[in-house]
Amino acid sequence: MAGTTQDQYLTGIRVRVPFGQQQRVGVVLGVTDRSEFPKEKLKPISKVIDSQPLLPALLHKLLLQSARYYHHPIGEVYETALPALLRQGRTATAQTESIYRITPEGEDYDPQSMKHAPVQQRLLKSLQAERAGLNGKALQQVADHWRTPIQGLMEKGLVTQQEKQSQPASGSSSDDAHPLNAEQQQATTLIQQQLEQTHPSPVLLEGVTGSGKTEVYLQLIQQVLDTGKQALILVPEISLTPQTVARFQQRFAVPIALLHSGRSATERLNDWISARDGTARILIGTRSAIFAPLKDPGILIVDEEHDGSFKQQDGFRYSARDLAVLRGQLEQIPVVLGSATPSFESLHNAEHGKYHKVVLSKRAGGAVPPQISLIDVRSRKMAHLLSAPLIEKIEQHLSAQGQVLLFLNRRGYAPALLCRSCGWIPTCPRCEIHYTYHQHRDRLVCHHCGGERPHPSRCPECEGEEIKALGAGTERIEEALQQQFPHHSIARIDRDTTRKKGEIGRKLEQIHAGEHQLLLGTQMLAKGHHFPNVTLVTILDADGGLFGADFRTTEQMGQLITQVAGRAGRAERPGEMAIQTHHPDHPLLLTLLQQGYPTFSEQLLSERRQALLPPYSHWALIRAEAAQSAQGHAFLQQVHDLAMHYAIPEVEVLGPIPAPMEKRAGRYRLQLLLQSSRRTPLHQLLASVVPALETMKEGRKVRWSVDVDPIDML
Ligand code: ADP
Ligand code: ZN
Ligand code: ZN
Repeated sequence: MAGTTQDQYLTGIRVRVPFGQQQRVGVVLGVTDRSEFPKEKLKPISKVIDSQPLLPALLHKLLLQSARYYHHPIGEVYETALPALLRQGRTATAQTESIYRITPEGEDYDPQSMKHAPVQQRLLKSLQAERAGLNGKALQQVADHWRTPIQGLMEKGLVTQQEKQSQPASGSSSDDAHPLNAEQQQATTLIQQQLEQTHPSPVLLEGVTGSGKTEVYLQLIQQVLDTGKQALILVPEISLTPQTVARFQQRFAVPIALLHSGRSATERLNDWISARDGTARILIGTRSAIFAPLKDPGILIVDEEHDGSFKQQDGFRYSARDLAVLRGQLEQIPVVLGSATPSFESLHNAEHGKYHKVVLSKRAGGAVPPQISLIDVRSRKMAHLLSAPLIEKIEQHLSAQGQVLLFLNRRGYAPALLCRSCGWIPTCPRCEIHYTYHQHRDRLVCHHCGGERPHPSRCPECEGEEIKALGAGTERIEEALQQQFPHHSIARIDRDTTRKKGEIGRKLEQIHAGEHQLLLGTQMLAKGHHFPNVTLVTILDADGGLFGADFRTTEQMGQLITQVAGRAGRAERPGEMAIQTHHPDHPLLLTLLQQGYPTFSEQLLSERRQALLPPYSHWALIRAEAAQSAQGHAFLQQVHDLAMHYAIPEVEVLGPIPAPMEKRAGRYRLQLLLQSSRRTPLHQLLASVVPALETMKEGRKVRWSVDVDPIDML
């Protein structure tokens, strides 16, 4: 370009560049006066978008290091880190968006008189219910094609449109800090010391559920705010824990940005900008919030750090928890990893002195831990996972005005159907896995690829007409509970009952208001809720966790049981937990229940050490999916040979072998495991092998990916 100098191209600014027939947005990663490519192959930059680097320097550095660590293209790493509007090249300034509000005439208008225009009717009802107004994204949830109908409503004078610039809402200081108990004080002091260090270490805060971890976070954040700095808190899922967010909002009268998928594109951009320019003082977000730009960060907190949702499972497979630790090092600020059930990785890091560890061993505010009992369900007649002793317990708690929480990690009506005469089981042809029957929709659904088919009226193998449901999911348990307890109301919380926007929040409110006495759900119900009236929690089927395909299954079972137990007796009323199992003598289960998570995790960690499993060895998985198994195999075999060719000592190359789930959505899945007791050689090997995958001929027929520190082997 004429009249430009190199100086214009600062590292980290966005530019528009020609890409094939199109123009794409790119980020300048460096400037050079040499190139391996002939000059005629190089293309000029068409347009400079930013005058200053888009990201704070240390965040840019975090992205570069993440790309290197996960052996993932930096372009996709940047893509993950930026809000959509910035990826599209929008200027990095706050944008306005249209908000639609009901007018006084609209409030009085009877939606029933709009029967001829059903979409307008729905939109009107939603706007009547939400007087603060709704943006385009929210209206989209109400009706896919909302623009024309909303125009219609505006022409009738029932709705108005305003341009509004969203800003993080300010909290209030309506809630006072608790005086800390001795353990909390100790934890706070230790983390405070880290706040003063130039090179602070991460701190693992292991505190039983209800021990007051959140209170510790809140008081630390207060100190960080007092020094004029910002706090970033990562949580597994915001919609599931509105109470945690509410506590932050009630404590601090500062702008608090919530970063999560429920925000519109404009809101996300504005939040992002308010984080970068320092307007937002506290940021609470899910996984990708680890990439939020912070003007002056003071502390990073990862709550429920063991939670699997911090690891992205496709594309750029990063762990937000691990990147939080890295970011803390770069920014030289403390990182607090909090959990009642820390991940084995974090326990291991604490044991080896990489993290400080502090323990909160008792519930704060006087609540006592629940009484736990095992219900041996061998040779018992069960009415859909409800054994007689369990039913009796439920009755007791209900008649004492307690709420009862039932946990089952299986949604749908039944995990399989079965032909009574010949044993045929309908199976998803694309995944070779049983369909789950959903009675409400009367459909068979594959939970792996989403494929569906109607309920067969007769067996295709033997023409038999008797097809029965095998086993039970939450939908069937709900039905069984209704029959057992016809006078009590049930709230079922799983992916099927909470699809609608705001539905989960509504259900949680109803539970708090005491509208439901029986709370039934999948792991959505196990996460961090505080239900003061729940006195009995039950795990309907603990057996899956004892014999999983993956060595992590037992770790996850221990975390889940402990977390579920934490939902019982959180307030004045003592709680009880009942676990149904066919293996009441299982040593792991007994260790967990009698000695608690710390002993349970110690024992499993020592087994992992002997077997050289993570965290005692470091893994990377190269996965391949192909229409034919042989294609995936050929590709991974070549990767294997290449890896052997580099002959890096200390790295074992295992495979290719079929993935535990061999087929999904019609594609065969295979994997190659690279394993090493030290990280450095593993990364050395990946750095040599991964760039070569791009150009392998065999790679064109397969979808492949690299997963560093995989947590899911499926
Ligand atoms: P966690 O995050 O570990 O589950 P919370 O911080 O939510 O625990 O605390 C559990 C309950 O105990 C909350 O109701 C909280 O208000 C209360 N609490 C926390 N710390 C104290 C304290 N020092 N004194 C009295 N109550 C406390
Ligand atoms: Zn049959
Ligand atoms: Zn399928």
